Amino acid sequence: MPTLGRQNTVIQRLFHIKMALIVHKYGGTSMGSPERIQSVAKRVAKWARAGHQMVVVPSAMSGETNRLLGLAKVLAPSKTTDAYHRELDALAATGEQASSALLAIALQAEGMASVSYAGWQVPIKTNSAFTKARIESIDDKKVRADLAAGKVVIVTGFQGVDPEGNITTLGRGGSDTSAVAVAAAMKAAECLIYTDVDGVYTTDPRVVPEARRLHTVSFEEMLEMASMGSKVLQIRSVEFAGKYKVPLRVLSSFTPWDINIDEEAKSGTLITFEEDEQMEQAIVSGIAFNRDEAKISILGVPDTPGIAYQILGAVADANIEVDIIIQNVSKDGKTDFSFTVHRNDYAKTIDLLKASVLPKLGAQEVVGDTKICKVSIVGIGMRSHVGVASKMFRALSEDGINIQMISTSEIKTSVVIDEKYMELAVRALHKAFDLDQSAA
Ligand code: ADP
Ligand code: ASP
Ligand code: MG
Repeated sequence: MPTLGRQNTVIQRLFHIKMALIVHKYGGTSMGSPERIQSVAKRVAKWARAGHQMVVVPSAMSGETNRLLGLAKVLAPSKTTDAYHRELDALAATGEQASSALLAIALQAEGMASVSYAGWQVPIKTNSAFTKARIESIDDKKVRADLAAGKVVIVTGFQGVDPEGNITTLGRGGSDTSAVAVAAAMKAAECLIYTDVDGVYTTDPRVVPEARRLHTVSFEEMLEMASMGSKVLQIRSVEFAGKYKVPLRVLSSFTPWDINIDEEAKSGTLITFEEDEQMEQAIVSGIAFNRDEAKISILGVPDTPGIAYQILGAVADANIEVDIIIQNVSKDGKTDFSFTVHRNDYAKTIDLLKASVLPKLGAQEVVGDTKICKVSIVGIGMRSHVGVASKMFRALSEDGINIQMISTSEIKTSVVIDEKYMELAVRALHKAFDLDQSAA
């Protein structure tokens, strides 16, 4: 096994010596049926009976959040649902609330004292950005009192309460963030994210069956992988873990619940905070991809100072996040300016540009493409190696894949390509960087 960072080694030691406060998070598939919930309850009870203080953060049963939001779409099919954000949160939060109560019932039926709290009951305080609220504080008093009384405490994932008392949700995949934030607030010894894969892989194992599980992944790499689209952890959960140094592990809830607890505590993928000589030393640790973005280009923009600000300032004022940006060299005093936004914001951005930016700029046209995807290679080894990006471009060109946009940072290179080549590109890059299982 690779050597762990110093901090984690200390925690691991403590962990085995005495009882610790542990946070478990169970995702949708892990909570997907009464049988699965029962298995979660048995697993949690096993940890509690081993002497640990247990806080558990469950997600809604798989498919439930989509089902609920789908019902809202039937009633309000308009392309912008901004007007309904408050109610969408009140609606979506019920999925997690049901699974929390069900888990508490299952634990009690197991003979384990347990209590569940909705976000507002803890309370988990957030800002008022409905559907993507940020956690501002967590009051740990009630939870600590229940733990001291020997109860397993279930804190409902994905939700909180804003200063006006409205129910808020944290964005899709937000239960990960609830769990890490609770772990940070409680100064938990470790936060274990139980899911339907047995750890973090070199890329999504559903797309590349040859993907390999990583025993450890550095916090920085996990942050890039999550922000580039690996949905195994919500990006904000990784940000929280980094900020508050929460020891984080991703592991499977599909092992038998009565697996040896020490073996279980070492399984999966540990997110580490130190670069260690002996850690897996690949130049590229993983390939991330996402289909969530759309590209927008403004053609014939006069190439004068302040243009980027005029375009992107208006977009930012409308609360729309921009990802990759490129500006072409100018020709006859005119240039083209392109950027990507989330697909959900595509129509809104185009409308905004047409209505208020184009006329001011005297630009010729705004065009867009929603059939794109972003594929990224991520690895801290890229810092000290040259030629990594060119190897990426070569691999893509060998498969005839045209690159539309490029963006780089110290530890990642991303390209925007036609959506139809996404899987081909991910497989080609996985192979080119020797990540396939057979290469291990
Ligand atoms: P949960 O419901 O437990 O939160 P998610 O569906 O949100 O589960 O996340 C787990 C899924 O993430 C896996 O089933 C897998 O398909 C996907 N995934 C994407 N990238 C990766 C990766 N690099 N490693 C592991 N899983 C990944
Ligand atoms: N149930 C929410 C979702 O589907 C939150 C989560 O699962 O983490 O996005
Ligand atoms: Mg998830």
